[in-house]
Amino acid sequence: MTDRLNKAAISEQVIIITGASRGIGAACARLIADRGYRVVVNYRQQADKALQLVDQIIHRGGQAKAICADVANEAEVETLFQQADQFGKLYGLVNNAGILDRQARLDELDAARLQRLFQVNVVGSFLCAKQAVKRMSTRYGGEGGAIVNLSSVAARLGAPGEYIDYAATKGAIDTMTLGLSKEVAAEGIRVNAVRPGIIYTDIHADGGEPGRVDRLGPSLPMQRGGRPEEVAEAVLWLLSEQASYITGNFIDAAGGR
Ligand code: NAD
Repeated sequence: MTDRLNKAAISEQVIIITGASRGIGAACARLIADRGYRVVVNYRQQADKALQLVDQIIHRGGQAKAICADVANEAEVETLFQQADQFGKLYGLVNNAGILDRQARLDELDAARLQRLFQVNVVGSFLCAKQAVKRMSTRYGGEGGAIVNLSSVAARLGAPGEYIDYAATKGAIDTMTLGLSKEVAAEGIRVNAVRPGIIYTDIHADGGEPGRVDRLGPSLPMQRGGRPEEVAEAVLWLLSEQASYITGNFIDAAGGR
């Protein structure tokens, strides 16, 4: 078996992180690069932030490359993985890109909005997983690898009156994590998910409530919202060889929520 604890081996392994120009994705990129992996910082917009992050990582002695692609677009996802192939051998995928639309109750939802949400959060994760499995599966001559999906505690709470549509996309991610983990387990690929709770990132402002983490943080068992770096630690562990017998599992990074 490949010794992935070997630093030299790790330094040749590529991990693609989708939606990594900011927030949890950026924290994952920093941490995973610090551990020695080659990191692909995928972004759809905010190229300046993605390039700045790559510069930071390289400055710290890491290896990183920024690649633009909309994960909801199959052709762009194919190109993303082809470009990543130039960077080294794929070992891991972090399906992090996600969107949260403005707060809504059921009577405010419309089909176009729902379709975009599912297209990015669910279809995007499937499309990236498909490309990753093609490269990592021993069935296709790969050497195995790991996929970590960013779900949410909303998947099991339902987020009534707030984001039942978003919660449903994360429920789909949980089910995909379970199904895919079993489908590819014998091919050397582990598939797990991290379920963040309420984390300080810009997704809340984009989703319609800038102060959401400060509003809800004190009501959590740990009495505060989480930091992106605290989620990234769980992602890194699931990707790493330390989690070599863990698949189809979930870690809640949610302060006890
Ligand atoms: P964020 O908005 O800061 O980051 C999401 C990133 O995904 C952004 O960089 C965005 O540009 C990118 N993105 C969006 N659509 C994309 C597309 N089509 N193609 C490529 N990239 C795209 O949010 P975050 O909080 O860092 O969220 C990261 C993940 O964690 C998401 O899947 C989110 O649902 C999940 N999550 C976040 C929280 C939280 O409280 N912040 C809680 C639970 C789950």
